[in-house]
Amino acid sequence: MRASKPKKPKTFAPSLAGRCLRYAVMDLLGFGRMLSEDTLTAMRAGSSWHRTFQSRLVHEGEVLGLEVPIKNEELGISGRIDAVIKEHDKMVAVEYKTVYADKYRQIEEHGPLFDHWAQLALYVNLGRYERGRLIVDNRESEERLTFGLLPSTEWETWLIVRIQLARRYQLQRMLPSREISLRCLHCDRWQRCFKTEEERAQMVQSHPLWEPNPPLPEQYFTAGAYGILSEPTEHSN
Ligand code: SF4
Repeated sequence: MRASKPKKPKTFAPSLAGRCLRYAVMDLLGFGRMLSEDTLTAMRAGSSWHRTFQSRLVHEGEVLGLEVPIKNEELGISGRIDAVIKEHDKMVAVEYKTVYADKYRQIEEHGPLFDHWAQLALYVNLGRYERGRLIVDNRESEERLTFGLLPSTEWETWLIVRIQLARRYQLQRMLPSREISLRCLHCDRWQRCFKTEEERAQMVQSHPLWEPNPPLPEQYFTAGAYGILSEPTEHSN
């Protein structure tokens, strides 16, 4: 009997870039998520919005590609960029998100959500694009917000360190410590971190601020992006 080939470790999805390290490692180790019916409905609606966005984009500008692969063998990253466009001779990676009205207002006031921004930063800094553009649509109105991102060595370093850390834990099949913050209240893997909702609420109350290691890139706060770090991720895509 032929020995079966050893399974390749799961790749790091760009959408994990801005998540808690423990969450990212759970994903790499194949842990399930607790998705509510509301979340699943929102995800399906999000996919449909994405298709509409991409089909309109094709008629609007110089689109070089849709669902453009991004791969980095060394870091074990694999994913797809919503679109790549050419603008003033620059290659621009485009990330499209939709959110409900309450979240939209927060983004309008405080800037992009960290998860969205980090995902785009990964495309730009590790995919070597000259610009990044985040487009956020309000699912309940015709409104749209657009943010631009430039390459930054600070982001590049932060992303590489976080991804390498996650990969190390993945290879050791170990979970890192919790990164407790308000984000735990919306995490769809929280049962792996707390025994009860009461315990979670207490721990979050005593440590509401997310303090990842290494600390968040300063550029996130200085480039007009002040997105709150307590955002629910379940109603965005
Ligand atoms: S519950 Fe909190 S610490 Fe646990 S994986 Fe989710 S965000 Fe991270």
